[in-house]
Amino acid sequence: MEEKVIYIAGLGLIGGSIALGIKRDHPNYKVLGYNRSDKSREIALERGIVDEATNDFKEFAGLADVIILTVPIKQTINFLKDLATMELKTNVIITDAGSTKGEIVDAAEKYLTGRPVQFVGSHPMAGSHKSGAIAADVNLFENAYYIFTPSTLTKTETISELEDVLSGLHARFIQIDAAEHDRVTSQISHFPHILSASLMEQAGDYANTHEMTNRFAAGGFRDMTRIAESEPGMWTSILVTNKEAVLERIADFKDRLDSIAELISHEDEDGIWNYFNNARLTRKEMEIHKRGGVESSFDLFVDVPDEEDVILQILELLRGTSLVNIHINEENREDSFGILQISFKNAKDLEHAQKVIAENTNYKVTIN
Ligand code: NAD
Repeated sequence: MEEKVIYIAGLGLIGGSIALGIKRDHPNYKVLGYNRSDKSREIALERGIVDEATNDFKEFAGLADVIILTVPIKQTINFLKDLATMELKTNVIITDAGSTKGEIVDAAEKYLTGRPVQFVGSHPMAGSHKSGAIAADVNLFENAYYIFTPSTLTKTETISELEDVLSGLHARFIQIDAAEHDRVTSQISHFPHILSASLMEQAGDYANTHEMTNRFAAGGFRDMTRIAESEPGMWTSILVTNKEAVLERIADFKDRLDSIAELISHEDEDGIWNYFNNARLTRKEMEIHKRGGVESSFDLFVDVPDEEDVILQILELLRGTSLVNIHINEENREDSFGILQISFKNAKDLEHAQKVIAENTNYKVTIN
């Protein structure tokens, strides 16, 4: 099998996880890494995420068959500019992982056109609130969309070669134009983060004069504001590199708030009912309700008595599986049984979990 040299610049959550995924299917590839800070470089070497690491971006660039830039968006653009002046292997594939694509693809075309390189933008659509090489996870991208945004420097074979290099990530590869990527993500990711942060900020101010606000905030509020805990630096870069699309979504949303305000002020009950009903029906149609969607997970439901240690006992049986979330259905807490919902990253672990729980307990286990 052909041995390739892969150079990952930025050994954080995303770079480290990509490196681990590459090595899973291609243990013979040489994976080289760049990181500015000592800490993630040392962790990456200790954990075997990379074979060699440097703090000088230039050092390994000329050795690579594939260069993956996994640093913040502005730094990705700086590195694309730097690569234009470096001695690189002919036909090297250069890609990135930035959460917005327009400015990165434009920069690649601006700096690298005329050089014997291939470039395609990439956005692996999975993440975590954690960062750094310490958080790298070989399963991070399992079942997630891995989006390619072609450029004028993308050849027919560029994407298929990258898909082969990245096969061990077990992601779902898809291609879309960079501008359309940025428009769609402004709607389903960037704007919701703004909304969540705004809601949190509004409630924080309100709590200054209404002291029960913090105490009464429960499930619905928690679900709406979970992403307000995201890393501010990353979100700042995302918003400033997708300004137009995000501002357009904000303007559209203001109109929507005005229209529901209008319905409420006229006590238009049919209008309000329809507003909520449309939202409910639209949400049911979205892929988040289907297995394999962006937030795909494989769910198992266990009827458990409200007794001490039951959850610990079940979790102990599931040690070593790709468990991603557990949730106790609180509405059932007054019954003698509650529903424990456990989400896994893949069908194999789901089936394994169903089997071990059924064999070792007498709780009812269902999958749907
Ligand atoms: P991270 O903080 O875990 O890692 C970023 C790495 O870049 C770190 O190792 C850091 O040392 C290095 N770095 C930061 N600033 C630098 C600079 N100026 N010069 C050189 N190196 C620098 O972050 P991450 O989550 O791995 O994000 C990396 C990229 O992936 C970003 O472009 C981000 O938009 C994208 N991305 C993130 C997520 C997510 O949810 N975390 C999801 C998809 C894509």
